[in-house]
Amino acid sequence: MIKYYSTNDRSLKVSFKEAILSGLAKDKGLFMPEEFKKLNPEVYSQKNFSDMCYKVAQIMFDGEIPAQDLKMITDRVFIFDAPLRKLHDNIFVLELFHGPSAAFKDFAARFMAEVMGYYVRKEKKKLTILVATSGDTGSAVAKGFFLVPDIDVIILYPKGKVSILQEKQLTTLDENIISLEVKGTFDDCQRMVKEAFVDNELCSKVNLSSANSINIARLLPQSFYYIWAYIQAKSPEVIFCTPSGNFGNLTAGLIAKKMGLAVKKFIAATNVNDVVPEYLNTGIFNSRASVQTYSNAMDVGNPSNFARMIDIYKDVESMKKDIIGFKATDKETIETIKEVYGKYDYILDPHSAVGYKAVKDFLSSNKTDDTPIILHGTAHPAKFPEIIKKAIGIEIDLPEVLAQAMHKKKHSIEIKANFKSLKEYLLNRS
Ligand SMILES: *Cc1c(COP(=O)(O)O)cnc(C)c1O
Repeated sequence: MIKYYSTNDRSLKVSFKEAILSGLAKDKGLFMPEEFKKLNPEVYSQKNFSDMCYKVAQIMFDGEIPAQDLKMITDRVFIFDAPLRKLHDNIFVLELFHGPSAAFKDFAARFMAEVMGYYVRKEKKKLTILVATSGDTGSAVAKGFFLVPDIDVIILYPKGKVSILQEKQLTTLDENIISLEVKGTFDDCQRMVKEAFVDNELCSKVNLSSANSINIARLLPQSFYYIWAYIQAKSPEVIFCTPSGNFGNLTAGLIAKKMGLAVKKFIAATNVNDVVPEYLNTGIFNSRASVQTYSNAMDVGNPSNFARMIDIYKDVESMKKDIIGFKATDKETIETIKEVYGKYDYILDPHSAVGYKAVKDFLSSNKTDDTPIILHGTAHPAKFPEIIKKAIGIEIDLPEVLAQAMHKKKHSIEIKANFKSLKEYLLNRS
């Protein structure tokens, strides 16, 4: 069985189960697998996504979850596809938005919910999941955990900083899903959640876990669709472009590469919150307060998975061999949506548009590279109707799964942007 160590201390090792249920290591480090088992030919010969996911999961979680149970989990989780669409020339979009919240986080959130539910059932415990969201994480997590027995989910989101649709998705499920409207920024929400996990009093009274991308169970299943994209591309080597905020998605790609996937390069695309591209260019990691943009799920000033990226590469020189970073402004995001719609009749959401801009930047300095470039389409454009309207003047229809939430009543609890308020709330409800 593969053990998981803390990025702060390699000698602090736990089982997969402990890593996923605790979320963060005791010394505040992030968990990483101590070994990356290699993908085998059987994985590459799979014809459907869910079967492939099962084969990869078997390699990743060998001995951890019995094969029969693992098959049940992957069959329940991966019920929607991640199709690869050719945009033009050698540029493809991997559409990751065909799940219930119409964003890529559905894959990992569903997987984590199923696996946590599996362990909680076995142990007959109750669990409270804390999750900070800048918009999309919360809705994917809420849908993933909705009605999972013995698990409550508490979502922290920044008041007034998510779209109306995102807010509806966060606040209308009810049952075991509770939304806290924090009078602050996403970084405040994330900090409050992090503090909760290291508060001894709170942890002794409430059985807490995390569903943010700091949880290794959110990270690992994201590598599945990198592999699926590679299979669909039918090329010996590929390049990925990943629109990034907390860099969980991109780190999952790095893990797929560690498992042997033939990835020539990763393009890290950010909006003006460009801490990582800046690091790749200057060698200096300068975390700072986030700035609000049109691609708001990527408005992150201190990307939590950077600790894992450093753990993998150690220094900027070796990281640069695999990853190249670019940023896009809001203006460029709008122009890109317009350009791609005009030229290729395809509507990119603002996050994926940041990615497409990075692909163009990459190609302008690597003109001779004809390796297929796979851009992650991280969200359905209909999730951002105002921005799409602004860019191309089109009123885009909501997918049915999202339209339903718009008619439901919002339920949320307002709290101040400090840990004390969160702690009080958590202690008083239990
Ligand atoms: C969360 C999110 C991102 C950023 O993903 P990270 O794993 O945080 O880097 C990009 N696009 C969309 C639509 C998202 O919801």
